[in-house]
Amino acid sequence: MDNHPEGLKNIATFTVLSAGEFSQWLRGTQASLRSGNGQADVPCGSCKGCCRSSMFIHIKPEETQTLERIPRALLFPAPGLPRGHMLMGYSDRGQCPMLIDDRCSIYEVRPQTCRDYDCRAFAATGVAPDRQVQPEIAQRVSEWAFDYENEAGREQHRIVKEAATFLEENRSLFPLGSLPTFPVQLALLAVQVSALFSSLKASVHDASTNANAAIARDLFAAMSKARGNPGECTSDCGYGSS
Ligand code: SF4
Ligand code: SF4
Repeated sequence: MDNHPEGLKNIATFTVLSAGEFSQWLRGTQASLRSGNGQADVPCGSCKGCCRSSMFIHIKPEETQTLERIPRALLFPAPGLPRGHMLMGYSDRGQCPMLIDDRCSIYEVRPQTCRDYDCRAFAATGVAPDRQVQPEIAQRVSEWAFDYENEAGREQHRIVKEAATFLEENRSLFPLGSLPTFPVQLALLAVQVSALFSSLKASVHDASTNANAAIARDLFAAMSKARGNPGECTSDCGYGSS
């Protein structure tokens, strides 16, 4: 028997998950991207969204323990990267082959790519995951909510979102192929360049195409410089998928 009052029928229920304090998350994520060997420490709970989202997983040659645990047949050379860099694919259902009985069978030695992955980057930047290909990630992203220690944290969040929107809307002002095509990588790039973006934006006094082109030029110069440092995020960092 349905005892719900008429007006309460069909009201959707929304889950809100704490993504943590924004400034702290930003500092940790930027440090992790700089070092190249961080650990995202996402409060995933029972979610296995990123293990079931049609992702190619990059494994570096120095991850020898990881490579030893993954059957050779599941690995292939990563296109465009030096010899020894490998990718692991996914099943017809988009699932990582190392996910067995709904748990990671190589958890202790899982790839650095898996340790780095943090779907809160989408919530932090406003960049959207592909809901068609990655519905579980998209669902989780819709549930995250950051909190703020103070107004400065709220402002930092606004700037990170603004940087991401700038990259998304001004792709044509960057040299062809210089911005990542995968949403998660674009989100991480926005996280990395947000402080520089903010200072560049403050130095121009209008929102003209010329001003945007000058910002894009300076951002690209900084990104190119960072690419000389293997610890910095480049367009091939993170998961190799949408
Ligand atoms: S989608 Fe997000 S919450 Fe889910 S397992 Fe991946 S990182 Fe964790
Ligand atoms: S290696 Fe483990 S953590 Fe990484 S995607 Fe596969 S099952 Fe998930």
